Amino acid sequence: MTAPHKPMEQTGPVIQVAGAGPAGLTAAIILARAGREVVVHEAQREVGSRFGRDFQGLENWSSAEDVLTLMEEEGLTTRFAAMPCHRGTVYDAWGNAYDIRSEQPLFYMIERGPGPGSLDSALLHQARDLGVEVRFNSRLKHLSGPGILAAGPRAADAIAVGYHFDTDMEDGFWAICDDGLAPKGYAYLLIMGGRATLKSCMFADFKQEKRYVDRTLEAFQRLTGVQMKNPVPHGGAGNFRIPQSAYSGRHPLVGEQAGFQDTLWGFGIRLAMASGRLAAQSLLTGENYDTLWRRELLPQMETSVVNRALYSLAGNRGYRWFLRRLSTRQDIRRSLRRQYQTSWPKRVMLSWANGRYQSQRKDVSCSHVDCNCVWCRGCA
Ligand SMILES: Cc1cc2nc3c(=O)[nH]c(=O)nc-3n(C[C@H](O)[C@H](O)[C@H](O)COP(=O)(O)OP(=O)(O)OC[C@H]3O[C@@H](n4cnc5c(N)ncnc54)[C@H](O)[C@@H]3O)c2cc1C
Repeated sequence: MTAPHKPMEQTGPVIQVAGAGPAGLTAAIILARAGREVVVHEAQREVGSRFGRDFQGLENWSSAEDVLTLMEEEGLTTRFAAMPCHRGTVYDAWGNAYDIRSEQPLFYMIERGPGPGSLDSALLHQARDLGVEVRFNSRLKHLSGPGILAAGPRAADAIAVGYHFDTDMEDGFWAICDDGLAPKGYAYLLIMGGRATLKSCMFADFKQEKRYVDRTLEAFQRLTGVQMKNPVPHGGAGNFRIPQSAYSGRHPLVGEQAGFQDTLWGFGIRLAMASGRLAAQSLLTGENYDTLWRRELLPQMETSVVNRALYSLAGNRGYRWFLRRLSTRQDIRRSLRRQYQTSWPKRVMLSWANGRYQSQRKDVSCSHVDCNCVWCRGCA
């Protein structure tokens, strides 16, 4: 586990960061380590408040190297609870179970929110140890000097809705690919240490969310026998969009405020942290941020748009075909990595996929932070 690197002597004007999510805190940590004075403004009273005690997957398939090793190499803390997940069960719409295996962890189950073992708390502690000032209940409206905008999603392209609860079931992960439970998405159950997250992750038909959550709960109870103790409803949205430019004026936009996400399944944490790192790098070196993220993040994001277009077409029979194929693989991590990497067929399909996938973020000219437009002035 990495100890926080020592900050260098401070030089240059104060850098303001809007948002203490993984994107904003990563940027702050890298800037502080390089000797810059950083103030992070967080609109809520604690980190990760939109997630409560949500369990999420820190995916480990988009890179050959292990994600925790990469975080350590980049000087980010790994002092958070992270359960390696090698093996789980995915069901199709007919209730058939497929065993999913990988040699290295497919993902690490982590906690989000303000809890002591969460990713958000670990990043917060590291930032503070490096001298970053984090101001809670501080909603940044305007930025006059150097800064980074990391304020999270601006529209809902997908929603994940369900429950957090306590359970006697053993640790593990389960998923169901069934448009009747999670249209164009997937339903999932994550259990770690007697606590659980059960969600329907939908990419369409949000107005019927209650019906899909009820069906998801019934299906997991029937298939896995899970019982909820002390259930608390929880849900959230994700914004997936590849921007023309990830600048608002001269300020870099990072994480979901830019629209950076895994359009296929919504595994956005790594893109949030990577874009935070690249925005910090651009402020430190003067390199153009658009050049940096296009070089490092764009190929994966474009591939994920193609994957989304294909997945949306698949339907329940297509998911079943996909699961049958995956379950024959000894190492699903390697198969998924291939799907997440760019390839010439996916490059050829990109303009078709762009025509099929449209973000709900209609007003692409305004991210409503650091903005003086009439709408924002009206809400101030
Ligand atoms: C229910 C759910 C489940 C998910 N599961 C997974 C998963 O399993 N794996 C995965 O990789 N990803 C998952 N994601 C996506 C992942 O959580 C996000 O991609 C990631 O949190 C984005 O990080 P961020 O820093 O850009 O934004 P956020 O984490 O949203 O942080 C933005 C912060 O900015 C603050 N803020 C907003 N406006 C202002 C302002 N004006 N001034 C100051 N602060 C402001 C907000 O309060 C918030 O704390 C999930 C998302 C949801 C909703």
